[in-house]
Amino acid sequence: MAPFEIVLVPALSDNYVYLVHDHASGATAVVDPAEAAPVQAALDARRWNLTHILNTHHHGDHIGGNRELIERHGAVLIGPKAETARIPGMDITVAEGDVVDFAGHTGAVFETPGHTSGHIAFWFADSDALFCGDTLFALGCGRVFEGTMEQMWSSLLKLRGLASTARIYCGHEYTVSNARFALSVDPDNVRLQARTREFEEMRARGTPTIPAVLADELDTNPFLRADHPGLAAAVGMAGADPVAVFAEIRGRKDRF
Ligand code: ZN
Ligand code: FE
Repeated sequence: MAPFEIVLVPALSDNYVYLVHDHASGATAVVDPAEAAPVQAALDARRWNLTHILNTHHHGDHIGGNRELIERHGAVLIGPKAETARIPGMDITVAEGDVVDFAGHTGAVFETPGHTSGHIAFWFADSDALFCGDTLFALGCGRVFEGTMEQMWSSLLKLRGLASTARIYCGHEYTVSNARFALSVDPDNVRLQARTREFEEMRARGTPTIPAVLADELDTNPFLRADHPGLAAAVGMAGADPVAVFAEIRGRKDRF
């Protein structure tokens, strides 16, 4: 099956919403519509009609456009079963191991608790596309609001295990500030230094840094490297449990 087309739609101050379009059928999904207006404008510009909405978690900056888009298009709303009480109007709820069908494209559902307790990610292997909301960011990860550090670390390990060609479509443009933090815990990482310069140039030109590719994140994202001996040593925790190292790094980022 031919890969789908993905259009990045900036919304609110730093959110990214994604339109996913299947050319053969004309079906179009939106992932985490923060607000309806920019999504509608992007649809209109391409004469696409919205058929599906995918939500990764219940935060307002990910579901804010749901109601208006459903009223306008009658799109099918798919989201996390564990957040049924917190996302109004879901037609299909999904959990770990479920698959969503979008115009014949199969999306595997992973539960990735930590940022919220019911957060999920969608992995479309045939298009090498991971929609991970606020779990994994380029060079960062989401704040741990509802889950435990242990849950967040296991969620990141799940995503780390995907194909290294996976393109990471995350919920926010936080990359440059993530890079500055990453350098504070991993200053001698030459790959990280190079990516930081690249990202700073991209942002100076107004270019989105998304999608990132998982292979690059594996070498440079400190939150995917809490079990790397060099990183543990760099934060003064040589030999410590990866969950403890992850918690230390996440805590430092919260205070950065
Ligand atoms: Zn969020
Ligand atoms: Fe968010």
